[in-house]
Amino acid sequence: MSEAYKMQVATAEEAHGAEVMVNVLAIQHNVKVFKNMGTKLMAVIKNNGYGMGLVEYARILLRAGADALAVGSYAEAMKLRSQGVDGELLLLTPILSVAHLKKLMERRVTLVLGGVRQMECVLEAAALCHQRPRVHVALDTGLGRYGFSPVELPRFISRAAEFDIEGTYTHFAAPYQDEALTRKQFKLFKQCVNVLKNKGVPTGRLHCCASGAALRFPEMRMDMIRIGSGLVGGVPEFYRYGLKKAWKLKAPVLRIRWVKAGERPGYGARTLLKRRTRVAVIAAGYADGIFMERADQHIFRLAPLSWMRYTVKTLLNGLTVWINDEPAKVIGSVGANYFMVEADKLEIDEGDMVELKSNPILLSQHLKRDYRFY
Ligand SMILES: *Cc1c(COP(=O)(O)O)cnc(C)c1O
Repeated sequence: MSEAYKMQVATAEEAHGAEVMVNVLAIQHNVKVFKNMGTKLMAVIKNNGYGMGLVEYARILLRAGADALAVGSYAEAMKLRSQGVDGELLLLTPILSVAHLKKLMERRVTLVLGGVRQMECVLEAAALCHQRPRVHVALDTGLGRYGFSPVELPRFISRAAEFDIEGTYTHFAAPYQDEALTRKQFKLFKQCVNVLKNKGVPTGRLHCCASGAALRFPEMRMDMIRIGSGLVGGVPEFYRYGLKKAWKLKAPVLRIRWVKAGERPGYGARTLLKRRTRVAVIAAGYADGIFMERADQHIFRLAPLSWMRYTVKTLLNGLTVWINDEPAKVIGSVGANYFMVEADKLEIDEGDMVELKSNPILLSQHLKRDYRFY
């Protein structure tokens, strides 16, 4: 670890557990990459801002030039409003609670129309607060999650006059994996939009690209792009697109000691040491959101083969973890707050903060976020 770097991170005495370092310069840089695409940029900050921390991350993005924000839950929308984040804000989930929809409208959160029944809930809430609902209309072109399918479209059209329609959008199922399907969805989206236009229904801003499609299919960017993972540099081959990783997970080394051959330290007593071994205890575990790769279906879908290889290797050799970009073997089971590694070859010491590989969206909300310009 370089001296300059050491000065930037808290020492283990100050930081009792793991923390997430958020690189503000990298975020600003990534915003620029997407702004240069020439459309409006809606920054998607669901799931605690992809792990970056909801409110502070929202402020960073708006200051960097994002035109609008989108969240995934009622609680996230209300938290942003109550903390004074007032820009354009879309709630991407078509919730059904009339009481919650009413509160959202009162805080000027834009709603999604995601189906016939939910549309009626929105109208009910609108009547209660004497407002015309401001909405983005979701169209289902194949993902099958929510939105009006082409057959349901007439049901929406018959009520369309009751809404202020600020946008119309769809979401792709496999922008990284299936180009033909993405093109098919895009075509269907444009056909549905034409149906709306022919019926005199205003569509507002048209948008269909999340990170994958915005990066891979420039012709599909339309009026706005909705970017989540790309803004934190969390997309496959991020460097090819000039994006930067915006987060690092740091955890303190609590203790290092030499353990003699024949011992089986750690939970489960599952790792028999064949020789005298330097063992490091790291203060991080699955309660912080690491070693949760099994829950990461995204990786699974992208690369089932490499995943299988990984699983087999793990069974044969035990779990490997990356510490300061070096592989290290895990000793014993990973606990909620600690794990141990073989540290013979690692240049680490008690009190150091080490960097661990992590998927930001899985990182616990309870971890401290440290926003730095570096
Ligand atoms: C999550 C989400 C996004 C952002 O997706 P990324 O691939 O992370 O950029 C965009 N649109 C919708 C509807 C989403 O649910």
